[in-house]
Amino acid sequence: MIPYGKQDIVQHDIDAVVSVLKSDFLTQGPQVPLFETSLTFITQATHAVAVNSATSALHIACLALGLGVGDWLWTSPITFVASANCGLYCGAQIDFVDIDADTYNMCPQKLKQKLIKAKVEGRLPKVVIPVHLCGQSCDMQAIYALSQEYGFHIIEDASHAIGGRYQQQPIGNCKYSDITIFSFHPVKIVTTAEGGAALTNDPSLAERMRLLRSHGITREPDNMQGQPHGAWYYQQIELGFNYRMTELQAALGVSQLNRLEEFVRQRHYFSDRYNRLLAHLPITRPYQLPDTYSGLHLYVIRLSLGQISKSHSQVFDELRANGIGVNLHYIPVHFQPYYQNMGFKMGNFPDAEHYYQEAISLPMFSAMTDNMQDEVVSVLTRILESEA
Ligand SMILES: *Cc1c(COP(=O)(O)O)cnc(C)c1O
Repeated sequence: MIPYGKQDIVQHDIDAVVSVLKSDFLTQGPQVPLFETSLTFITQATHAVAVNSATSALHIACLALGLGVGDWLWTSPITFVASANCGLYCGAQIDFVDIDADTYNMCPQKLKQKLIKAKVEGRLPKVVIPVHLCGQSCDMQAIYALSQEYGFHIIEDASHAIGGRYQQQPIGNCKYSDITIFSFHPVKIVTTAEGGAALTNDPSLAERMRLLRSHGITREPDNMQGQPHGAWYYQQIELGFNYRMTELQAALGVSQLNRLEEFVRQRHYFSDRYNRLLAHLPITRPYQLPDTYSGLHLYVIRLSLGQISKSHSQVFDELRANGIGVNLHYIPVHFQPYYQNMGFKMGNFPDAEHYYQEAISLPMFSAMTDNMQDEVVSVLTRILESEA
């Protein structure tokens, strides 16, 4: 089976992890700060807080922004459930903003219409989480302008997008957001096995997120109430978690980041090649917004179902049966039973639902070969050109 995504590990990565295993620190040593420095270098944000997953990063980002009971968090329905669940962890309520039919990202016009209505009803969101689906940036300038007008915070879910750019600047620089989060799960662009990070230019948000990732404990006398009892002393000043990244993970991350540009270049090579090789098929290829350079975590096609004699799931099943490990990103979050139980209905977000009926993620990863890709193209072509 050719998988839809896969990590790209070389000897340098292995050596980096082994050397940590032989060192004094498996956790809370020098590698995590080194990884954070590398992330700030790549993104040009001033602070990076590395954690054990993007889900954890989303959670502490929401808490640092003060999200809580009685607040609303809005995100895209076409995302992984974690982009919405983070609001529920904080006791907030969730709503969604439908996608743009071309980019599949949160649509700024629909966001604006929803804000106008929410203002009248007195239920404006405290936090909005645009998701850079497939690695392509959302229209952040438009979303940021709305945040200024309607007074909400922005967390960019850039789990798909490290190494990408928006308006010629690196995704993660937080020019149009309070916080940007990344995922380093093995299917993503660079990996730390499990792992994530939150980037920000706001020192107080960075400090709060550092506290929250490690039990809410400080060893900084300036942050304590009263005087330290001695050199052993620490104080818990918030209710935090253990969301720390290990030294093994951070060392792998530092090593992987050395190849970030190469990884994204490879993905562009395969994406351009798909664009050429699939041009004749009854599908919609990914649309590229001007002013963005995608990290290209995913290559999503949409089937032109009116022009073929097979159903979406037939094409999907036949691809899998022929060794092509396709996937579907994503089932709209509001279709999940957990969210349906909150009152969301089919029909709430029509463009997201239409997308879901047609989308398929084709295999694409930096360690893929031309031969593998040719196999994907020939199997897909055969399936789409044969009768049901
Ligand atoms: C992968 C992913 C996450 C969660 O990442 P983890 O590191 O697995 O917690 C969140 N949001 C999006 C859009 C993702 O793709």
